[in-house]
Amino acid sequence: MAISTTDPRTGEVLRTFDELTDEQLEDRLARAAAAAASYRLTSFAERAGWLTAAAQILDDRVDELAALMTLEMGKTKKAAAAEVGKCASVLRYYAEHAESILADEPVDASKVNASKAYARYLPIGVVLAIMPWNFPLWQAMRFAAPALAAGNVGLLKHASNVPQTALFMEDLFREAGFPDDVFQTLLMGSGKVEAVIRDDRVAAATLTGSEGAGVAVGRTAGESLKKVVLELGGSDAFVVMPSADLAQAAKVATTSRTQNNGQSCISAKRFIVHTDVYDEFLAHFAKEMSALVVGDPMEEGTDVGPLATEGGREDVETLVKDAVDKGATVVLGGERPEGGGWWYPPTILADLTEDMDLYDEEVFGPVASVYRVADIDEAVSLANGTRFGLGSNAWTNDADEQERFIRDLEAGQTFVNGMVASFPALPFGGIKASGHGRELADHGIREFCNIKTVWIA
Ligand code: NAP
Repeated sequence: MAISTTDPRTGEVLRTFDELTDEQLEDRLARAAAAAASYRLTSFAERAGWLTAAAQILDDRVDELAALMTLEMGKTKKAAAAEVGKCASVLRYYAEHAESILADEPVDASKVNASKAYARYLPIGVVLAIMPWNFPLWQAMRFAAPALAAGNVGLLKHASNVPQTALFMEDLFREAGFPDDVFQTLLMGSGKVEAVIRDDRVAAATLTGSEGAGVAVGRTAGESLKKVVLELGGSDAFVVMPSADLAQAAKVATTSRTQNNGQSCISAKRFIVHTDVYDEFLAHFAKEMSALVVGDPMEEGTDVGPLATEGGREDVETLVKDAVDKGATVVLGGERPEGGGWWYPPTILADLTEDMDLYDEEVFGPVASVYRVADIDEAVSLANGTRFGLGSNAWTNDADEQERFIRDLEAGQTFVNGMVASFPALPFGGIKASGHGRELADHGIREFCNIKTVWIA
């Protein structure tokens, strides 16, 4: 895939970028290793100052950055502006909390024949982050803020369709005052990722992306015995039980499914509705989905813009066509509009069956699959009947049902009567084919630390 900025509204290629040569890449790796040796000795207070400065730069440049993200991948500008704000918040979160999260953890020395014993969190070194285009600033910041706060050095291999956002990341940390080469963007295709992970100067890797990329990166990290965090795809269930506030559930279902033009790993994708409220929920849901404004993502009033890539739209169309050919009912949408750009309308499909690809696959566009279930057992079983396990949404006001969903839904997160979202203070990640490891909160910053046992006689 060429490294370029292409306007998803029109399909016009706006700028192309050269990939790093092998010599340039070698130079970048050497510089990262040199930076790691000195950056690990900086204090939490120094790092907190630089993180806070980076947050301030984001606050000051929110409009310009939002427009850049919208241009590169089509998310609405208002969503992009919110993303910039969220990035500032995660920088401030780790500026404030990294030192206490990573403080020494003493144990009772008398139990281990020592005068003193504790666990210390030390930086692990150079970490390669392979990131996707869908939240081009947030995904990269979700890695960078804790990594830099912990004293690690970051290398970013961003998706090939968001090079300008990727380059901004490097500029941001330099302008914020971080020492040279503590965070570098590597403009390169995915073909070079394996060699970088295998390089002795790289200590660990993290990937946010598709299952296929997860397998490739996980295999290489495994073969080179390096720590890896994988944040992969999802096909989150959104279960609606009879006690739920149906109108509110339908509103949130709509936001969840169509956020980021339907391209979010934690969008609810499978709507599993108790038969007693199925018709009523579906009516609310169809009303909310059909009221969305599809249009130029730069405009304030737009809810849904184009998909980010041509291939992404083809994948969505193929899944919808397969389902419709096999008997799914189109409640809403289902046909791309005429004209240029990669538009796809908000779509609802019902009457889905196991032989349809949509039943098993993640759909990365504004397409909702709605299922009818007889009871909570069937709801849990259908929700878990996927190889993914990222997020899950349970809508019920019955306390026993809430506990059942929390206990039994196979996912890294269960949100009750609300929308799955990420917060700096909550761990984020999945199980099963959605990956392993966690980002954010205490758990995320500790992933890339050497947890050293210290024992003193
Ligand atoms: P993708 O194709 O896997 O790309 C993600 C990143 O991986 C890009 O930088 C890409 O580089 C690189 N890559 C692709 N194939 C690779 C390989 N074989 N080896 C090494 N690197 C490789 O994913 P996408 O289609 O852009 O993003 C959508 C996917 O990401 C969805 O499945 C979504 O659910 C998932 N996602 C997960 C989370 C989460 O937190 N769990 C968050 C957001 C998105 P190039 O661009 O150069 O190909």
